[in-house]
Amino acid sequence: MKALLLVDIQNGFCPGGNLPVPDGDKVVPVANRLIDSGRYDLIVASQDWHPPGHGSFASAHPGATPFEMGELAGKPQMMWPDHCIQGTPDAELHPELKSEEIDLIQQKGEDPRIDSYSAFRDNDRDASTGLSNFLQEQGVTDLDVCGLATDYCVKFSALDALEMMPGVRVRFIEDASRGITPEGVAAAIDEMRAHGIAVIKSADALRQ
Ligand SMILES: [Zn+2]
Repeated sequence: MKALLLVDIQNGFCPGGNLPVPDGDKVVPVANRLIDSGRYDLIVASQDWHPPGHGSFASAHPGATPFEMGELAGKPQMMWPDHCIQGTPDAELHPELKSEEIDLIQQKGEDPRIDSYSAFRDNDRDASTGLSNFLQEQGVTDLDVCGLATDYCVKFSALDALEMMPGVRVRFIEDASRGITPEGVAAAIDEMRAHGIAVIKSADALRQ
């Protein structure tokens, strides 16, 4: 049973959004080819879904500036611009993504006290979203992961998939993903590879 996980392909992370990833929208046609390929038995997407005033927002911390390190619940936390606030266009999946083909949308980041980069659990690795149970109940044996951003939510989702679903083969689709910085992407790819995640191109995913 093969599944595709599309991470946070939302307006907020695309050009024009509140936390744009460079060329973030370029993943949409690639993701659509994967969706249309018929190679996947199950397609799931994650959606960053923050309440207003979320603790990951610089605006929630007096004196904080976006993209500097701050603290949340006693732990280091990147201070982000306000983004993907529940019910706003910024939080919607990209309009050109073939979302009608998506079987499940897993929302995350709802708890104002903790951030959730991973689609599977909060950053303190405590509260699970339930996605790993769902995928295991469906009998998923192979999971391909891609989306936005490689150096944050995609990487953490792929690593958690590996750790929380022992035996499931996890691959990262490089050209169906974009990251915030080139250095961050390179480090994320090294880290994923070191954990046994295969780094592939969409052409590989379409072939096998
Ligand atoms: Zn977020």
